[in-house]
Amino acid sequence: MTVTDDTVSITRPQIGPRQLFIDGQWRESGSGTRTDIVDPSTGQVVTSVAEATEEDLDAAVQAARAAFDDGRWSALSGRERARILNRVAELVRERADEIIAVESVNVGKPVSLCRPVDVLTTAEQYEYCAALAQTAGGSNRETPLNAHAYTRREPLGVVGAITPFNFPLILSSSKIAPALAAGNSVVHKPAEDTPLSALLMAEILTEAGVPAGVVNVVTGKGSTVGEALLQHQGVDKIAFTGSTAIGRHAASVAGQNLKPVTMELGGNAAHIVFADADVEKAIGAIIKGFVFNTGQFCMGGPRLLVERPLYETVLTILGDAVPGVPVGDPFDPSTVVGPMAADKHVRKVEEYVQIAREENARIIAGGERLDLSGGFYYKPTVIADLTNSSRVVQEEIFGPVLTVQPFDTEDEAIALANGTEYGLAAGLQTGNVARAHRVAAKLQAGIVWVNDWAMLDPAVPFGGVKNSGFGREYGPEALESYTKVKSVVISLE
Ligand code: NAD
Repeated sequence: MTVTDDTVSITRPQIGPRQLFIDGQWRESGSGTRTDIVDPSTGQVVTSVAEATEEDLDAAVQAARAAFDDGRWSALSGRERARILNRVAELVRERADEIIAVESVNVGKPVSLCRPVDVLTTAEQYEYCAALAQTAGGSNRETPLNAHAYTRREPLGVVGAITPFNFPLILSSSKIAPALAAGNSVVHKPAEDTPLSALLMAEILTEAGVPAGVVNVVTGKGSTVGEALLQHQGVDKIAFTGSTAIGRHAASVAGQNLKPVTMELGGNAAHIVFADADVEKAIGAIIKGFVFNTGQFCMGGPRLLVERPLYETVLTILGDAVPGVPVGDPFDPSTVVGPMAADKHVRKVEEYVQIAREENARIIAGGERLDLSGGFYYKPTVIADLTNSSRVVQEEIFGPVLTVQPFDTEDEAIALANGTEYGLAAGLQTGNVARAHRVAAKLQAGIVWVNDWAMLDPAVPFGGVKNSGFGREYGPEALESYTKVKSVVISLE
């Protein structure tokens, strides 16, 4: 993980109470109810946000609809939209320190990683989508009809974007940037615990020139305002990232309403280490794969599969190295692993580690909370000798926990890797190029990394198979998913 040293001056921000952003205006919720926002590194309340009602959500959808229908954004040329999206990226870079401070105090992200990961990726997504906005379009079709036939790629209308707690900035931009590039309007419902950067981005989008009503941010509970967004007949597409359980529900509602959906759901990726791997390099990727974002990473690599001749060696190296990973205050520039985003996530990790203990697994590192400043810390934990059927291996723990299992053959490694309900990411470490291609082709996952982990870029699509969802974010595929194809056939008679 690249830790930058230009974050020394970033300190905990003072943040006043935040309101809803609807039709270009900041407003209180209709009920006046507010939700406290907690700093996960201290457990202290830092501010509060308005908790939207269904009526507020309806107002946001109506604002987005009006903005779409009158063409203030949807009728701009791709080049005009691109100019504004590029300005968003510039402002994200200019206001990086402020964004980092907000994202870190809300999610517990180490400031030193928040710049290269969350902030720069966000800027790059807007830049990439600005380029797509200028180049995307329909195509001519050769046909024996005596006609000129072509397709148009048109925006869908109003996009309902629902995002999870763990990468608030990146995962809201991965929806809003392509949706805007294609000419849509957006109603965004961020996660209830981590909505602050979405509200800051509303300011930035406005400053960049995105017209009022085109992007609306409605904070509040998933069970009320999220559900109302899912159910709203005025929404033309749902872009959902979150757990498989809620995604299953969201997809069924969208199915009832016959609305297109993108489903970015849970993951539980396997990371395979073959005996021909460069072990020293592999260890770095393994540790990054499970501690990155304190393990709250849908594309993390929490299931390590090691070819038997290397099994005990890898466990010994991990046992020595993992306790040395710097865990602590996210505002300390040397911190690599911050707290978990909420205490409920730590309690979930504790439950899984308890199950592992009851199954007589070997705890190689960690295995307990870290008591620090009242924050929600858990030590990076490595667990060996579980069976593949253990819940600790099969289920998504979503914390800084690595399970390690041995294997004897390539086929066994592939079977173990594919042996869960999930299929978001997978990876392998090998010095054999033929094996890299062969195994990558057989892994059931939306993205496969070879000899590193978490190599992500706005140009490279990601998304799930199996219970990790469907649809792709990033790449031209993302833009396409925010458009509909219309065919025009003009008689030449
Ligand atoms: P979650 O499913 O609890 O919540 C996700 C969003 O859905 C939140 O905004 C929440 O308020 C909303 N929501 C909850 N109930 C709803 C309802 N009835 N109707 C509409 N919206 C509702 O997920 P989470 O705990 O915030 O995030 C963690 C999960 O997200 C993990 O499973 C993780 O793997 C997954 N995730 C997936 C990806 C990906 O790209 N595939 C990326 C990040 C996180």
